[in-house]
Amino acid sequence: MEEKERVAKILDVLEKRFPDARLLLEFRNPFELLVATILAAQAPDERVNQVTKTLFQRFPTPRDLSSAPLSDIEQIIQSLPYYRQKARFLKEASSILVEKFQGEVPPQLEALTSLPGVGRKTANIVLANAFNIPAIAVDTHVARVSQRLGLTSSSSPLEIEKDLTQIISPEQWIRATHLLSFLGRTTCSAKKPHCPECPVREWCPSFTSF
Ligand code: SF4
Repeated sequence: MEEKERVAKILDVLEKRFPDARLLLEFRNPFELLVATILAAQAPDERVNQVTKTLFQRFPTPRDLSSAPLSDIEQIIQSLPYYRQKARFLKEASSILVEKFQGEVPPQLEALTSLPGVGRKTANIVLANAFNIPAIAVDTHVARVSQRLGLTSSSSPLEIEKDLTQIISPEQWIRATHLLSFLGRTTCSAKKPHCPECPVREWCPSFTSF
């Protein structure tokens, strides 16, 4: 079976198994998604969703957040790891949005990654989920699952992204990200993958029956 055919089969099976696969961060507009993804570094999505409820209520726009006292932002997000650094990122990124981008989140990778706290993964999440622009965001789950499925031999997120974009068609990039991430969260866990129950075990070179 050719590689493109194999990955198409894998995605087809995962779509049937995880029809509700989606980004778990809650947001109503590109700015909220940008903020949530900055906060999500090293933090569980559920906890991010808890703090953003309050944060978005108090500071709903880039202008509001850019002029918010740093201590107020810190206090709202203090249950998250690296909250002091993240509070600074949010305030600085919001100021740049106001000053350089007319208060809007730019739908371009380069512009997004110029913002503090925004790396390539975060930018790709925003492009894909806020603007529906084809992009593959390589989070820890996508990376692990891609390696185990033999879709990449790299451990670098950038190289993994490149490898995936070579074998998955652009119209499937967003969906593939969600499906691979869900497989990692639910079945192909980091410490002990549940291979016997895995829906794509038939096409996986790392299958193990222990
Ligand atoms: S068969 Fe096992 S290693 Fe392969 S993707 Fe499924 S859970 Fe992961």
